[in-house]
Amino acid sequence: MSVINLLSPHVADLIAAGEVVERPASVVKELMENSMDAGARSLTVEIARGGMGMIRVTDDGSGMSPEDAGLCFLRHATSKLRDESGLAAISTMGFRGEALAAISAVSHIELRTRRAEENEGTRVTLSGGDIDAMGPVGCRVGTVMTVKDLFFNTPARQKFMKSDRSEGSACMGAALRSALGRPDISVRFIRDGEEQFFSPGDGSAKSCVYSLLGRDVASGLLECRSVNGGISVSGFVSAPRCCRGNRSGQFFYINGRPFKSAQLQAALEQAYKNSVMTGRFPACVLYLTIDPAQVDVNVHPAKTEVKFTNEREAFDAVYYAAREALAAENGAAQIDLSATTKRAVEPNPAFYKKMTAEEYREKTAAPRPAPQTRLDLGSAGGTFAMREPSRPLEPSRPVPPPRIPSIPATPQPAAAEKPETQPPKIEEEEPVRVIGEALGTYIVAERGDCLLLIDKHAAHERVIFERLKAQSGAVMSQTLLVPVAWTPGGDTAELLAENAAELEQFGFEVELYGVNSVVIRAVPADCEGSETALLEEVAEKLRTGHPGGAADEILHTIACKAAIKAGKRSEKRELEALVRDVLEQNIKYCPHGRPVCVELTRRELDKQFKRIV
Ligand code: ADP
Ligand code: MG
Repeated sequence: MSVINLLSPHVADLIAAGEVVERPASVVKELMENSMDAGARSLTVEIARGGMGMIRVTDDGSGMSPEDAGLCFLRHATSKLRDESGLAAISTMGFRGEALAAISAVSHIELRTRRAEENEGTRVTLSGGDIDAMGPVGCRVGTVMTVKDLFFNTPARQKFMKSDRSEGSACMGAALRSALGRPDISVRFIRDGEEQFFSPGDGSAKSCVYSLLGRDVASGLLECRSVNGGISVSGFVSAPRCCRGNRSGQFFYINGRPFKSAQLQAALEQAYKNSVMTGRFPACVLYLTIDPAQVDVNVHPAKTEVKFTNEREAFDAVYYAAREALAAENGAAQIDLSATTKRAVEPNPAFYKKMTAEEYREKTAAPRPAPQTRLDLGSAGGTFAMREPSRPLEPSRPVPPPRIPSIPATPQPAAAEKPETQPPKIEEEEPVRVIGEALGTYIVAERGDCLLLIDKHAAHERVIFERLKAQSGAVMSQTLLVPVAWTPGGDTAELLAENAAELEQFGFEVELYGVNSVVIRAVPADCEGSETALLEEVAEKLRTGHPGGAADEILHTIACKAAIKAGKRSEKRELEALVRDVLEQNIKYCPHGRPVCVELTRRELDKQFKRIV
């Protein structure tokens, strides 16, 4: 007796549906792609109850004839591919003819569609893939596809759905990703009756990015462009200072199609080597354009992976696009020490005295330990050593107990703090002299025959971070004189309210206040004035932080907001206290991993000035 059954087309559809339609967000993506393929100039996506209740996409595209309106829900029914030769060069988003079959198999659908050349439109309704009714209807040119009760007939799949809030956010994410790929199409996204985003569709990538990602993100992006062989790349990459703790800000498109690629992610990140610290990731919106025959998009039913005929070419195109954008930005921001030096010394070489390395060694003190890291100062070739602040005043001492005022008013002499029990020191500590502040950002200090450059903000951030950590679970809080009412976008208010108890341990007092709003009553000490920016970031940490990891991330954020900012002049005594903290606590990196202290040795300087060769 045979044990093999041929599955009915209905069961086959249900199985296939699982691959294409994983969750409501997949439906949003597929329907938007269909509208884009239909030549829509503008489209509206509406969702209700996280997309589980309803998803509707309305477009002003070509529409369908009555015949096609009936056919489009059949498996392998597509207008975008005729035979196998078409597979070699796909220029549309869809081509597999699967999406509508898959979606209709697991939902209730209503389609209204009309072509420009027809006087009336067609309405089709389906349940679980079967057509219930079909007939003429009065409607506008274009298509309205309404999907309701997703997974009503596949309870196993329904069980896997998360809360309406997360499914809704995923829908919004999917819509945003699609919209960002097509600056020439205007996209409106409405969630439970409220507009969440809108892109103008004026063809400008800049206005598209600005309207979808917001001003803050957009202002941290650098424009880039490159052509490598048959691949051209245009778009934006983030300035190193705007990198973030995860890759959620990376958007790649190939001929308008969003895709994921580990290689191109690597290419992008490679370009940031030495510009961002480990654990920080660049953001990007990169549009790749390539002859469709040179890329295979038929790798996976969800069409999010692609294969390039020439992987290396794609890698290089992305790498150089990012690299050049960064170089252009660095060029303006960097202090090129050796170029300045050259200008100063080259016109009259007679003015500087040359010294051989031998002479130098004789004249200078005991050799110092080898540099640990070398910072490249740019094309002029000058490099200088960056070491951990050598010989911290008390290497074996634990981090001192937290002080409540962030910067004490009067610096105490370091020697006064030495406990009696300290083991005898091999060599006497050289005193540190704070010279001042350069560029509003760096503290310049001198110790022995070394010049110390300390990033004021990064150092202060670290000091505060250590103090907050020591306060574990009871961060000092400051009640606001006037509570702040705030309506953030998206699900932020809800998220903050849900986590109010946890946030209290970080010094926040936040409660829900009307729809999508919160009232902020207290914030961590020293953070007033930036409460909404701070909470925005904290919400992001709650959203993305892996379990248990969010606490440190939140402390980073608080420390960053409470720290003195680069660009603001500080009092000398503040600087002195900070330098002391940095050296005492042996601080090397800010909580984000950026170096805090750079040392420029006399030898390096002498070399720059050609005192020695
Ligand atoms: P595919 O997009 O891979 O062709 P789908 O199942 O998504 O497969 O869609 C089937 C067909 O239905 C499309 O090829 C297209 O002809 C038609 N169609 C779907 N959505 C629309 C729309 N919004 N406007 C016009 N035609 C559409
Ligand atoms: Mg499709």
